[in-house]
Amino acid sequence: MNLEAFVLGCGGMMPLPHRQLTSVLLRREGELFLFDGGEGTQISIRRLNLRWKKITAIFVSHMHADHVTGLPGILMLSSQVDREEPLYIFGPPKIAEYIENNRRALDMYINYEIVVREITEPGPVWIGDGFLIRAFPLRHTKTCYGYALEEEPRPGAFHPEQAAALGVPRGPLWSDLQAGESVRLEDGRVVESSQVLGSPRSGRKFSYVTDSLAFPEISREVKGSDLLICEGMFETALASSAVEKKHMTAAQAAGIASDAGGVKTLGLIHYSPRYAERDLKILLDEAREIFPATVLTRDRMHFPIAYED
Ligand SMILES: [Zn+2]
Ligand SMILES: [Zn+2]
Repeated sequence: MNLEAFVLGCGGMMPLPHRQLTSVLLRREGELFLFDGGEGTQISIRRLNLRWKKITAIFVSHMHADHVTGLPGILMLSSQVDREEPLYIFGPPKIAEYIENNRRALDMYINYEIVVREITEPGPVWIGDGFLIRAFPLRHTKTCYGYALEEEPRPGAFHPEQAAALGVPRGPLWSDLQAGESVRLEDGRVVESSQVLGSPRSGRKFSYVTDSLAFPEISREVKGSDLLICEGMFETALASSAVEKKHMTAAQAAGIASDAGGVKTLGLIHYSPRYAERDLKILLDEAREIFPATVLTRDRMHFPIAYED
């Protein structure tokens, strides 16, 4: 089961010549989920050769221009294509008004259904086959949500020697046991999957956190993330200005990852435009001191998310 993330843009506030605005695309078994879409999002989608048509749902963190101004272009792009399924858009209050006003003022002809759902309380917003995506509250100058994709646990590892010892013939019955089903043998005996499987293994988790102050509850929400994409907008020297603007520093993002427990990789995102490319190292160094498995995300960076075992 393939799961991977593509960073479409890593900048905060305004796009720069080599840094587009914050947006992450998650691909799970060919299905695409977009998190935010600032200016230029469709350029990265095109350069990565991803088919935006496969986007099932878009999740918007909050109604600031640097997170939503790419959406009208993406919807325009979509006006001509064949598409059977609706496109879902989730976000805080005003997302529906924003989409509707753009469609109307730009006379967008879109030949498929767009379903916009405003999130009014934290909890699951998308239930997929074997996974869900839920929203959790962040603290910013406007209502803002973080998101987490969580997969259900998988059946434990299959032990062929135990199946053989129980007299289960190799073949389709092994597959059934592997899938967690019980099987009946020719002699009438029933073998339960628990007799041949190890304990259930955890599914994967992806979390997306921007824009926000740092506060302890975020750690609880992102606990166990295989990949945590989190705002790291400023260096520690600018911590008080970060608080004032309701943003966080790279070191605070690392603190969240470290406190959460079980986070495998932290990808910093939403850099202040004050940092030129070479200055981003300051953010990385400060974060790595607290959480060594930190990386600086860059536009069009690809993160495969593998199973732990
Ligand atoms: Zn922002
Ligand atoms: Zn913002």
